[in-house]
Amino acid sequence: MRTTVATLHAELVRYGLVAWTAGNVSGRIPGEDLFVIKPSGVSYDELTPENMVVCDLDGNLVEGDHAPSSDTAAHAYVYRHLPEVGGVVHTHSTYASAWAARGEPIPCVLTAMADEFGGEIPVGPFALIGDDSIGQGIVATLAGHRSPAVLMQNHGVFTIGKDPKAAVKAAVMCEDVARTVHVARQLGEPLPIKPEYVDRLYDRYQNVYGQRSPR
Ligand SMILES: [Zn+2]
Repeated sequence: MRTTVATLHAELVRYGLVAWTAGNVSGRIPGEDLFVIKPSGVSYDELTPENMVVCDLDGNLVEGDHAPSSDTAAHAYVYRHLPEVGGVVHTHSTYASAWAARGEPIPCVLTAMADEFGGEIPVGPFALIGDDSIGQGIVATLAGHRSPAVLMQNHGVFTIGKDPKAAVKAAVMCEDVARTVHVARQLGEPLPIKPEYVDRLYDRYQNVYGQRSPR
């Protein structure tokens, strides 16, 4: 899991989701009440499996020479409350954060959004870093949606997945649709997709699409 989490940070850079050190990936260690997360303030090209940090589900440091990411409490809260989640990602990616700055959900106006998010990408409350309020906002907002991504108001994106790679994919796709819908908005009002079609697209993509492999 240290290797997986360290390696996946390169994807945040590759897809242009992060500036400086402002973004992080974590992954739950299967069968343990532990997760691996980025060390705080270490640049992406210096991340190695060895300098990843292991924390318990209260966000306490268990193993590692560095302090864990300043977003660790939010990741820990998600793992504590959503046992099916195996990976969490946080970024301030530009277009998605622009929607967050307005406190506006991204409407489901693209079939790719229906596929991946099953509807709009919702907005969670404004929350200050330092306690459980970001984690609470993430979990409460995602509970009412199929989306694996939530825009935290005035802040940025948190995504979840069955594993860290799925959470990274959701972060990449969130930024992609945030950008496209933003561009569409410049030229007029994007057309909504009927909820029944959103349901059909979501079901097909989640259950049928792609290489069939045991889950
Ligand atoms: Zn942040």
